[in-house]
Amino acid sequence: MRDTYLPYGKQYLDEEDIETVIKVLKGDYLTTGPSIKEFEKTVANYVGSKYAVAFSNGTAALHGACFAAGITVGDEVITTPITFAASANCIRYVGGTVVFADIDEETYNIDHKEIEKKITDKTKAIIPVHFTGQPVNLDAIHSIAEKHDLIVIEDAAHALGASYKGKKVGALSDMTMFSFHPVKHVTTGEGGIITTNNENYYQKLVQFRSHGITRDKELLEENHGPWYYDMQFLGFNYRMTDIQAALGVSQMKKLDKFIERRKEIVKKYNEAFAEIPEIVMPYQSPDSDSSWHLYILKLNLNNLTNNRKEIFEKLIDLNIGVNVHYIPVHTLMYYQQLGYKKGSLPKAEALYEEIITLPLFPKMTNEDIFDVIEAVKTVITQVKK
Ligand SMILES: *Cc1c(COP(=O)(O)O)cnc(C)c1O
Repeated sequence: MRDTYLPYGKQYLDEEDIETVIKVLKGDYLTTGPSIKEFEKTVANYVGSKYAVAFSNGTAALHGACFAAGITVGDEVITTPITFAASANCIRYVGGTVVFADIDEETYNIDHKEIEKKITDKTKAIIPVHFTGQPVNLDAIHSIAEKHDLIVIEDAAHALGASYKGKKVGALSDMTMFSFHPVKHVTTGEGGIITTNNENYYQKLVQFRSHGITRDKELLEENHGPWYYDMQFLGFNYRMTDIQAALGVSQMKKLDKFIERRKEIVKKYNEAFAEIPEIVMPYQSPDSDSSWHLYILKLNLNNLTNNRKEIFEKLIDLNIGVNVHYIPVHTLMYYQQLGYKKGSLPKAEALYEEIITLPLFPKMTNEDIFDVIEAVKTVITQVKK
């Protein structure tokens, strides 16, 4: 057994990142300075979008996207239950109604056929999540959106660097959100961004991020002088600092290397687990090139004597920091209190009983990978029928 605990995810910072941050600290701008623009440009160039707007975190960015999309009280927005709560919460922040659509059993992503079943004349938008980094079936989702005149906001918190049919995620829908939390592909400590090709959304996002305030002469109805600004709607202080943005610029230089390393680890996992019939490895759609945020094993519980909880605890006892992504959002207390019911999304709920997330992050050593593989093999041998 290894003698240190291996987490499921972790940042990768090098000396260049640290130097970059120190340079900002010695400079003139700690917030809303040149690093913000540089970071936004770097991300927009990388994903191929016209615009990018940085936020204090990914959840704030999703809130901004829902506001810019005009989602409000009475509107229904469809998303997946197998996600982090933020994908649904952002709909609630603007007063919208969350409608969950069940998942596809192969990819664990939202199932476009289930989306279609949930559409009503109140549906305003879809928030698909590229779960684990594997893009959703965007062609199908876009064609539903077109047919029903819906806005698509991609939650790509897991999918920076992923591609769908050869095209980078980030410029394929109305708006796309990326997160820079330390477990994600690149980090700014806390941080998020919306990428878009739409100038109107861009302008609204910038204003929303800073209280709804603008100094843009073309937007002002009055102008009392050079000091004048107006607050035209109720926005928030969701700004990212220049310290964070500079770190983001430095991290982005290493993104492709990070993804390459994630893929190497996945290859080793896949090779090791292919011969174990008690576990199902992650399915990869031929349409997508995953950026591999998460590696999820599905347990074949029919062939095992123990349940997921016991297997999970055995792995933790071996110092392997496994995790579960995710508790279906509609079963969390807040959503149950709103009336969402256990049993309403059977595929998502069944998946939840069977999954374990293994450690996966670029800083893992070959020894770490070996430890995870050995631990999984040991535990499965103990619990197989
Ligand atoms: C991380 C994450 C978010 C939110 O990002 P924060 O930056 O932590 O606010 C949203 N959706 C998904 C699926 C995530 O994994």
